[in-house]
Amino acid sequence: MTYGGIEAGGTKWVCAIGDGPGNLRETVTFPTTTPAETIGRAAGFFTRAEGLAAVGVGSFGPIDVRRSSPTWGSITTTPKPGWAHTDVVSALRLALGLPVAFDTDVNAAALGEQRWGAAIGLDTFCYITVGTGIGGGGVSNGRLLHGLLHPEFGHMRIPHDQARDPFEGACPYHGDCFEGLASGGALRQRWGRSAEELDDAAAWELEAEYLALGLVNVVCTLSPQRIILGGGVMKQPGLLALVRARMREVLAGYIAAPELTDEIDDYVVAPALGDRAGVLGAIELARRVALER
Ligand code: ZN
Repeated sequence: MTYGGIEAGGTKWVCAIGDGPGNLRETVTFPTTTPAETIGRAAGFFTRAEGLAAVGVGSFGPIDVRRSSPTWGSITTTPKPGWAHTDVVSALRLALGLPVAFDTDVNAAALGEQRWGAAIGLDTFCYITVGTGIGGGGVSNGRLLHGLLHPEFGHMRIPHDQARDPFEGACPYHGDCFEGLASGGALRQRWGRSAEELDDAAAWELEAEYLALGLVNVVCTLSPQRIILGGGVMKQPGLLALVRARMREVLAGYIAAPELTDEIDDYVVAPALGDRAGVLGAIELARRVALER
């Protein structure tokens, strides 16, 4: 069987056809413009493929993933111009006549990592991306994390020492939430440079501090067996090691698990699938929806 996968990001869409990392027959990437144009390009790409069983979408959000909801399959309140209340699933179904699976970009990436990457064999783990924004998803007791809506790890509150860091935060809703303090967008606003251009050791220590505080909250609330950290900001050399070290200090030995002390290098890890985690996870979402039928 062959499946289509879409990693539907706020800045670009990645579409792929295949059935796993060893067999991605075709991939295309294009910028996220208007909903009609962007969804149309994706549909055009898949229309040319033969024998697709289903298409999976891992989308930027917030999105409606409540199966009983009349607006299931839509992007909801996004501040991204033109995209609020866009019914992604209906548009793709109409264009392709195929079953379409839909979840958050981070839940899709988590699923990809569980099937082929850094979370094989785990039933409770998180995937967190630190890029322009911060998002988090994962699997708990074998099921993708859903609930009232879906998790919004990026908008947790974390301690903010105003004396050390007077920056008021970049989140348009909350100011200094986790994303508002630690995302790539926050780095750019605070320091006037992008993450790639930022070479100040104190800036990266502050970044590691915020990431450690956020991850410790995740450890304490969800008790994941592993945390996978993706996204462009995490490509900064040395950042992952700083985050692990600070997490150990913040946790202070309270949770009795070697994973959080001597084995923390295997606990907080980069995605094994790299930048392909999202689109491969979308293919796994498609495979699952095809199996249901
Ligand atoms: Zn926020």
